[in-house]
Amino acid sequence: MPVRIAVVFKDRCQPKRCHLECIAFCPPQRTGTEVIWIDPETTKAVISEETCISCGICIRKCPFDAIRIIGLPEALKEDLVHQYGKNAFRLFRLPVPKQGEVIGLLGPNGIGKTTCVSLLSGEVAPNLGHYRRKKAYWEEVLDYFAGTELHDYLAKIANKKLTTAIKPQYVDKLSKIYTGRVRDLLTKADKRGRLAELIVSLDLASFLDRDIAQLSGGELQRMAIAATMLKDADIYFFDEPSSYLDIYQRLQVAKVI
Ligand code: SF4
Ligand code: SF4
Repeated sequence: MPVRIAVVFKDRCQPKRCHLECIAFCPPQRTGTEVIWIDPETTKAVISEETCISCGICIRKCPFDAIRIIGLPEALKEDLVHQYGKNAFRLFRLPVPKQGEVIGLLGPNGIGKTTCVSLLSGEVAPNLGHYRRKKAYWEEVLDYFAGTELHDYLAKIANKKLTTAIKPQYVDKLSKIYTGRVRDLLTKADKRGRLAELIVSLDLASFLDRDIAQLSGGELQRMAIAATMLKDADIYFFDEPSSYLDIYQRLQVAKVI
């Protein structure tokens, strides 16, 4: 059977404002096979990946660009690591962090970089596609990855044998969470005695004595990167470390990482 993913962007799908074109023009639906319908609970379109024939008509007909049908290589079929819901984003495969190495994940928005960070840092346990489960099933996850490089890594994460530090993606929200001077926050975070070094290499001196609420996006970004690096952890994650930075600052941050 062909492997396909049907994604309905819930924020775009607006059945009350369209003419249900996705249902009206779907060829198998028109001949009596149930493929696409409006879920009474969510009031959004739902697509059956089993009966959809990937014709792509609904993608073109939807006035709000709310549908994607993605064909997958057969080889990926067995590699589903995480899924957020029916007709929702899915992540196939995970990179394996290695001691002493820096791994960079590149890709457009929505490709799964932040999900990788959440899974590899242990913030979220892989659900292997069982998106209705509310709790982590680590035993099953470790069985699934048995014999792979990821198994040993995830076993340490599951058993809390690895400590992680994460630089969050949305640094603009930090001023709503933290208050006070930048210097005080970084001094508190400095478990490795590296603050003086990072003040120079990340060019922090000009805003060290300012209040966090007064920082620009680029200053918040550099403060967040420094605070993450100052923690004592086995693995460091930097989610979107280049946003708000100019090219010079991006290179500076890349060198420090
Ligand atoms: S997917 Fe598009 S056409 Fe279908 S119900 Fe939602 S908004 Fe309407
Ligand atoms: S891709 Fe074709 S078969 Fe699948 S839901 Fe859309 S219109 Fe129907």
